[in-house]
Amino acid sequence: MRAPRWPGMGVRPWLEALSRPCGACGRAPYRTPWRCLTEKRRGFRLLGAWYCGGECVQKALAGMLARENPAPAARPSAAHRVPLGLLLLSRQQVTGEQLRIALEHQRCTGKGKIGECLQQLGFVDEAQITLALARQWSCPVLRTSPAAWAATNFTAIPLALLEASQMFPAEFAPASRTLLMAFSQAVDHSTLYAIEQMLDYRTQACFVGPRVLRQRLQWLAQVRRPLEFVFDRVEDVAECARIVGSYSAKLSAEEIRLIRCGPHLWIRLDREQQDPVHLIVRSADFRPSGLRSGDLPDDSLAAPSVL
Ligand SMILES: [Zn+2]
Repeated sequence: MRAPRWPGMGVRPWLEALSRPCGACGRAPYRTPWRCLTEKRRGFRLLGAWYCGGECVQKALAGMLARENPAPAARPSAAHRVPLGLLLLSRQQVTGEQLRIALEHQRCTGKGKIGECLQQLGFVDEAQITLALARQWSCPVLRTSPAAWAATNFTAIPLALLEASQMFPAEFAPASRTLLMAFSQAVDHSTLYAIEQMLDYRTQACFVGPRVLRQRLQWLAQVRRPLEFVFDRVEDVAECARIVGSYSAKLSAEEIRLIRCGPHLWIRLDREQQDPVHLIVRSADFRPSGLRSGDLPDDSLAAPSVL
């Protein structure tokens, strides 16, 4: 098998990359290839391609979103794990009778997880439940003090995603680019994967008690962080593409990065010498829809909820 040949770093490939035409309309970025030495190229980069303007990037986005729609069904992530009640029973932290009472309590009230029921009934405490959940997910319990948590200067993940997945960034090791994310109920592997793809980090999961997690999320909501806009009622692929294209143009984005994150679509607009802007589209399982350039108003920013 022949080894792949990567493009060299000479002037020619660089010029070719800069003069690559728009991925949607085929328009050349410069009137002559040498103009790239004196003129700044306008437009957007999206997944390795260049698009000359808002309408072209909207067309490209609509095609991408339509191809991967509907969203992949969520995996039953905890289905193969030992039930929490049995785990506590096997470690003799609850008795069979206590577990039976808790299950009956859960059935009668019709809400709450078994760990919460056991805790409400006073059979176990929060630390025991956290430890049992960590065992259930084969993860460590976070032992370091809040002072060591990287969240003080780690704002690369939108707050909306942290709240949706009930997690927070606990530690970051720059040398290995590994980010330790803390959960209190269940590990959201699809979001961890999205973080790895978006930020080029490795991620690991750990557990903390729900009280610590709530306090940390409240604290993170007060920290200065990049702008994020959350869209709740996006009906179809065309509307989503229109929102992203419009915001990219308005905010002078240079590169658009997007990834599905469970039921959300996480879009990051990278800008020159400015903080990025995050767009979060909730429940991104769109109705199929065609996109025609005639459908696209010039200035159509949907009203988002701003965090
Ligand atoms: Zn174009």
